[in-house]
Amino acid sequence: MGELRITGVTVDVVRWPLKMRRRHGVGDIDQSLPGVIVKISTNADICGWGEAAPWSVFTGTAEANASGIHQYMRPILMGADPRKVCALMRQIEKTLVGHTEGKAAVEMALFDIAGKHLNVPVAQLLGGDCRSHVPLSVSIANPDFEEDLQFAKRLVAQGVNIFKLKTGFSTHKEDLRRLGLLRAELPASVDLRVDYNQGLAAWDAIRHLRDVEAFHPTFIEQPVRRDERAAMAAIAKAIDTPIMADESVFSPAEAIDMVRGEIADLVSIKIMKSGGIARAREIAAIAEAAAITAYGGTMFEGGLAIAAGLHMVAATPNIALGAEFYTSTWVLGVEILKTPIRIDNGQTRVPTGAGLGVEVDEGAVREISTAHYE
Ligand code: MG
Repeated sequence: MGELRITGVTVDVVRWPLKMRRRHGVGDIDQSLPGVIVKISTNADICGWGEAAPWSVFTGTAEANASGIHQYMRPILMGADPRKVCALMRQIEKTLVGHTEGKAAVEMALFDIAGKHLNVPVAQLLGGDCRSHVPLSVSIANPDFEEDLQFAKRLVAQGVNIFKLKTGFSTHKEDLRRLGLLRAELPASVDLRVDYNQGLAAWDAIRHLRDVEAFHPTFIEQPVRRDERAAMAAIAKAIDTPIMADESVFSPAEAIDMVRGEIADLVSIKIMKSGGIARAREIAAIAEAAAITAYGGTMFEGGLAIAAGLHMVAATPNIALGAEFYTSTWVLGVEILKTPIRIDNGQTRVPTGAGLGVEVDEGAVREISTAHYE
């Protein structure tokens, strides 16, 4: 390997304005939310970009992740060969617990550099793509359900066929009403899923879910709290509809725990939970060995994180239930990519250029930056 060295790591805490309000079993998102953008520069004419998309009620905070990158990861990265992605990430994991979103941001920036250096897409570094497009799942999470219903109808006309209803933040009766309306108003061919985001009380969850099964959802995601693993196992056993673990599985170790405890039939994989693409693919491998199929989840991600997710899903056959790669298109109010993520006929297109295959508009990042570290 020639001399390729990291010469700079800059971190921006950003504030994403939102085009759409979102409500979930775990919490609400209203006007805006924070994120983190990372730029890793080298002594060659190559830089890598990364994004952390934390959510304080789910993974962690933007402020802690920005500080984690600047204070703890940056000293490890400076002067290092950015192509040694695995070695650098191991050292970072040894130095700092948690901060999975910051680790994901740094790892995707390193992969971006490695791909650009070799002139191949990140998916190629992961073994090559198995798919050029990923079926898109759109979440129905607007507190104004009527608005979302009209939105869903417009999306159906554009080829979107998968919708995930967010439940568990209001009453059971209201959840059933919204499910009924979606089934009545959308075509019968629509693949409908349900995500409670931990919203049900464990003691009464099974009775609620039996009612929900009448609407034939493809799966029911995270009905109870992340640590209520015995309840998850009891629900997965009692309910015919496949149960998906999301908040209950962040790490490969938790994926093994999922298999041993038989807590779920399916798993949602997110690079923001696992701390990057490599760990996410370990979860996919553990799941596959246990006949557990995976889904490509996201947090509130801009185009950089979505590009990284797309490369991962493209190269990981077991993430076969589609993915929710639409937040940079329809939810966040600012586009920081000069080359926005493309959605064609209900499928998100995997970028084909070198590295992450996207180009960042640095002026757009500066516009939404609330703190800058270098
Ligand atoms: Mg979820």
